[in-house]
Amino acid sequence: MQLIFLGPPGAGKGTQAQLLAELWKIPHVSTGDILRASVAAQTILGQKAQAFMARGELVPDQLLLEIVQERLSQPDAQAGWILDGFPRTLVQATFLDKLVQEMSPSGAGLRVVNLDVPDESVVVRLLARGRSDDNEETIRRRLQVYREQTAPLISFYSDRHQLVSVNGYQSMEAVTDSLKQLLSPVPPSQKP
Ligand code: AMP
Repeated sequence: MQLIFLGPPGAGKGTQAQLLAELWKIPHVSTGDILRASVAAQTILGQKAQAFMARGELVPDQLLLEIVQERLSQPDAQAGWILDGFPRTLVQATFLDKLVQEMSPSGAGLRVVNLDVPDESVVVRLLARGRSDDNEETIRRRLQVYREQTAPLISFYSDRHQLVSVNGYQSMEAVTDSLKQLLSPVPPSQKP
């Protein structure tokens, strides 16, 4: 299973990605978590990323490509992974395509979930979460950045029939159930 979560900040990507990763015993790779850990540890990457994150801007693509290539080449990621927060730009999506192609040339198939939620609900959710970049001004900027730079990926993947959309504006359990139904890996014996 190679799965990507799209959806605005606060859509519930992290929660759902973590639950499914535990269920399927594959790593949950959150680029936001990796970046926050780098900032906390004051690594060179963290120092470069910090100001972008504090403003609600995207960290430059080149830094993200290195992070993701490194993480997905680890032994625990060979059976699959769930990416949360990546790709966020067309440059990142194109890079990921190449990476997936190199890793599984048989084309086992990338799947993409779009968690659909209304804007007003994400502002409320994010303000309740209280992370340092969860103040109202930064939230509004992150939503704007999402619409401008990340939302185009929805048509990028749906044009290629890789996308499923799920209503993220329901209880956490209901979203998890919908995802499990839509994405359950088909046992080999049941494949046509
Ligand atoms: P997240 O935890 O996914 O909301 O990410 C928090 C912040 O980290 C974002 O607002 C960006 O500044 C940065 N970030 C995380 N993932 C990416 C990415 N794929 N591309 C660029 N910036 C990212």
